[in-house]
Parts: sequence; structure tokens; C-alpha cells
Amino acid sequence: MHQIIDGKKISAKIKEEVKAEVALLKEKGISVGLAVVLVGEDPASKVYVGNKKKACEALGIASFEYLLPESTSEDELLALVEKLNADKAVDGILVQLPLPSHLDEKKVINAISPDKDVDAFHPVNVGKIMIGNYTFAPCTPAGIIELIERSGISIEGKSCVVIGRSNIVGKPMSMLLLHKNATVTICHSRTKDLSDVVRGADIVVAAVGRAKFVTADMVKDGAVVIDVGINRMADGKLCGDVDFESVAPKCSYITPVPGGVGPMTIAMLMKNTVAAAKNKI
Ligand code: NAD
Repeated sequence: MHQIIDGKKISAKIKEEVKAEVALLKEKGISVGLAVVLVGEDPASKVYVGNKKKACEALGIASFEYLLPESTSEDELLALVEKLNADKAVDGILVQLPLPSHLDEKKVINAISPDKDVDAFHPVNVGKIMIGNYTFAPCTPAGIIELIERSGISIEGKSCVVIGRSNIVGKPMSMLLLHKNATVTICHSRTKDLSDVVRGADIVVAAVGRAKFVTADMVKDGAVVIDVGINRMADGKLCGDVDFESVAPKCSYITPVPGGVGPMTIAMLMKNTVAAAKNKI
């Protein structure tokens, strides 16, 4: 019988813990603040930024929102990042991606102070994750580790297969699992016999961006399956990278979409912001 890993419940618990920590810091006279920068009018990005602001408000974190027009130049954006780097009230800086095409994402990410890079996309933080000595881990992979461990699942010694090698999910996910002493395999679009590889996994993390990519024949009995995918179907509904209906009966644990990995990302962003504030003490 499979168990559903409830991301809403686990993320709510993490937010409670963060709220308590923020209150404790406030008692010591330490404020916590997050700056979120959005360039342009992308509707999905607007929703994400709005959700981040709401989460900050609910947890007692000061939120500084910068909604810049699509026409913002790279120099203007870099100047804002510099200003936020120097602002003592700002512990975390998040520039919502994707940026409009005339802006160089790498350049902008590299301009954020690594101490305030709560998304953990700066090369310094990526390097720190590689050597296992880090303050911030990217929110989605870090949230997945929380989902697994808070469900009482041990990672050590397990065979883990991560499908997808993006810088945001697949690669950092693999490193975090490795730091937990898993044996990690990364699959990607050029992997041969992908089904065979995935069938050997105790823990599967699917971050492909293709609806129902992982099917029941690819998963071994009793596996833990984590579905990172967010795919919008023709009927408007969200669908994961895992064919939930057929895969779930074979699993010991599985995350649903929506309500699995998704809610963890903001909770981990809040956690990273508090970590940044504690770092400045
Ligand atoms: P991406 O497009 O950057 O990377 C996808 C990866 O999948 C690539 O590394 C590619 O090699 C691999 N891939 C593509 N086709 C494949 C195939 N046929 N076989 C094997 N591998 C294949 O995507 P991403 O940013 O890593 O995101 C992946 C999914 O996770 C998307 O659906 C995205 O929306 C979702 N996502 C969810 C959250 C969340 O908070 N839940 C956060 C980030 C991303």
C-alpha cells in the first residue's frame, strides 16, 4: 500500500518553524528581509512573486518588492542589485527568472552577493554545494530532501536515480542526495536504456518537464517516487512527470502533483532567507 507524501502539510510545518525562528530573531533585535525583483509582465512570474510576498508577510519576514517594466536595461537592473547587496535590511535577494531576453541572466545572477543569494544560483554557492559546505541549497531540491526525510525515509546507501540534469533541479538534487550518502545516477535526454536504469532505483526523482514520462513498467516495487514536473494539460489541469495512477500502486511513497514538491519551494526560500539573516550575526 503506497503512502502519499503530503507537501502541503510538510511545507506548513516548515513555515511554522521558520515563523518561530523569525520571532526569536526579532526578540534579539534582528530583522529578516527578502527583496524580490520582477522584470516584465509574465503572468506566471507575477503569481510566483505574489505568493512569495504573501509567505513573507505570514511569517514576519519583511518583503521588498521591485516590479520593473519590461523595458528595464541591464545597467538599471544591475544597479538595483548593487543597491540591494548593500542594504542591511535585505538578507535575501531573488530575481525572478526567466528575465526578458535582452537581459543576461548569468550576469545578473553573478551580480547578487553570494551571502544574499537565497536561490543558490550564484556560482560561488553552486561550488559550495559541490564540496558539501553550504548555507543555501536551491529551494526545490532542498525541499525534496525535506519531503523524503520528514516522511521517515532513509537516504543513506539507497540507489537514487534523478531524471533531468538542469542547473535548477537535476544537478543540485543529485549533489544533495550524494551528501546524504546515496548512490546517485543522473539520467538525461541522451541516456541509453533509461527504463532499465530507473528500474534499479530505490528512490526516483523525476524532473523532466514531460507529462506522465515515468510509467509503471519503469519503477520497481516499493520504490519512493518524487515528481518534480509541472506540466499544464490541454484541459488546464496540472500534471506531473509521473503517470500517478499507474505508478502509485507500485510505490512505497509517492508525491502528488499538485500538492507534493510544489509547495516546498517557497517554504525553503523562507528558510534560506532566515539562514541568510542568521549568517550576518
Ligand atoms: P529543464 O527543461 O531545464 O530540464 C529538463 C531535463 O530533463 C533536462 O536535463 C533534460 O536532459 C531532461 N530530459 C528531457 N527530455 C528527456 C528524455 N526524453 N529522457 C530523459 N531526460 C530528458 O527543466 P527543469 O527546470 O529541471 O524542470 C523540470 C520540471 O520540473 C518542469 O516540469 C518544471 O516545471 C518543474 N519544476 C518544478 C518546480 C517545483 O517547485 N515543483 C521547480 C522547478 C521546476
